[in-house]
Amino acid sequence: MNTDIEIARAAPKRPIAEIAAKLGIGAQDILPYGHDKAKISRDFIAGLSGRPQGRLILVTAINPTPAGEGKTTTTVGLGDALNRLGACATICIREASLGPNFGMKGGAAGGGRAQVIPMEDMNLHFTGDFHAITSAHNLLAAMLDNHLHWGNALDIDPRRISWRRVLDMNDRVLRDVVLGLGPGNGVPRESGFDITVASEVMAILCLARDLADLQERLGRIVVAQTRDGRPVTARDLQADGAMTVLLRDALQPNLVQTLENNPALVHGGPFANIAHGCNSVIATTTALHLSDYVVTEAGFGADLGAEKFLNIKCRKAGLAPAAVVLVATVRALKMNGGVARSDLAVENVGAVQAGAANLSRHIRNLRKHGLPLVVAINHFATDTRAEIAAIEAAARALGVQAITCRHWEMGGAGAEDLAREVMRLAPEPHELRLTYPDDMPLRDKIETICTRIYGAEGAEFPPAVLARLDAWQAEYGQLPVCMAKTQYSFSANPDWLGAPEGFTIPVRELRLAAGAGFVVAICGDIMTMPGLPRDPAANRIRLDEAGHVEGLF
Ligand code: ADP
Ligand code: MG
Repeated sequence: MNTDIEIARAAPKRPIAEIAAKLGIGAQDILPYGHDKAKISRDFIAGLSGRPQGRLILVTAINPTPAGEGKTTTTVGLGDALNRLGACATICIREASLGPNFGMKGGAAGGGRAQVIPMEDMNLHFTGDFHAITSAHNLLAAMLDNHLHWGNALDIDPRRISWRRVLDMNDRVLRDVVLGLGPGNGVPRESGFDITVASEVMAILCLARDLADLQERLGRIVVAQTRDGRPVTARDLQADGAMTVLLRDALQPNLVQTLENNPALVHGGPFANIAHGCNSVIATTTALHLSDYVVTEAGFGADLGAEKFLNIKCRKAGLAPAAVVLVATVRALKMNGGVARSDLAVENVGAVQAGAANLSRHIRNLRKHGLPLVVAINHFATDTRAEIAAIEAAARALGVQAITCRHWEMGGAGAEDLAREVMRLAPEPHELRLTYPDDMPLRDKIETICTRIYGAEGAEFPPAVLARLDAWQAEYGQLPVCMAKTQYSFSANPDWLGAPEGFTIPVRELRLAAGAGFVVAICGDIMTMPGLPRDPAANRIRLDEAGHVEGLF
């Protein structure tokens, strides 16, 4: 089989206006970026409110392993399959960050015959949204340091500034830096850079309802404390208006197409650890107004991705999925069952059965939300009949169907059985049961997620974290909690695969994202500025004689 980029480049694309027309969007309501990308105009989106909405389908997965699960690939394949069956289905996924593209191999546009195109653009500069987010974030940083330079009327404590700078690059040397060295260069202080996808501005763009809500949220960002301990916001620095100007175009969702010429909205890309990890609310609600089905993906495994999709995005945007697709692979379950990566191609039914404990815990968790559920077995060439049967049996024991899909190999035709089951499960929206109510104290929210979703015995809070929870409870106690934990395990230890028991979750640090509207609980080492590996993908990325990008997956 050809590589992803070969398949993507060979695909016959339709002009973007034709894709828009499939959704009933006229040429006057798209803002084309070249021939195969367009933003959907703000005015058109404003006119949609009050229209009926289609069914939202969430694609999530077991805990990720280096073997790969294929959530994006399954999201695209399922969308194409629903369209093949005559429904109008739109895919909603996140935009890609440059950092990982040039670091480790791994795309954000799906794979095989289930991809979104143009994949080079999607994985590179695309429509400039990340540039706009980077600029808005750094404008606030520049205004803050400028405020210190010109006399510091707000009495900001330079040692208690939490707002850093961002860049869309994996660049470890920028994690900790000293600013303002030399005469006339501002007030010297320690700070650092995060990657753009970790910016609170990214999370805000993805949760905002419209421009007014965007500006309101930007204004609420807490950047520092005064010397007497009061919060200083972006509004105090008068930065919210100019930041909104920089983000005006970026707030409009991007329309592209799948390999089978079906609509895909690719918009926003917050981290799934210190942020909520899903595409924008605007893209999802726009797609729901225009389609029978919207298939969307949440980052990482269901313990982090689906939990935050439901308890943060759906809670805040008033969304509720009509069905959930839980992606599993034979390879990933084997790794959860203790098999080394080098032995994944050898049949091992016992390891699949052992690893299925991970699948079962995710099924039970998703059931707690009251949502109809199907397991999608994303088929790899090395899977054997007996191994697939082991997954089917594990799912059946909990009353769930497991359906083998071959969309990676065959495109939408390979996921029609899954699409039929999704249509059967999702005749109407479901009442969503959230994990905790708004008015539960912050500390109890964290405990509840740890015990109910992770299967932990509880959470551990050092005294400094407890003091901070207390201090924030009055002002921010109604906010949901955004858990930042390893994606590899239900526990905080990435090596405890399967369905570990008898552990607690250490909450090491808290961060406030008052503009995005959540409190981040950091459990373990969370990297907000990744580094490049010894042999980065960038070593092999180049243009061929015809000017085509080579080496990008
Ligand atoms: P996720 O969204 O869960 O991170 P992706 O859908 O992006 O995963 O897939 C990760 C990688 O695995 C991609 O490079 C994709 O091409 C590959 N992949 C996915 N499904 C299959 C499959 N069935 N067979 C072979 N490779 C696959
Ligand atoms: Mg993905």
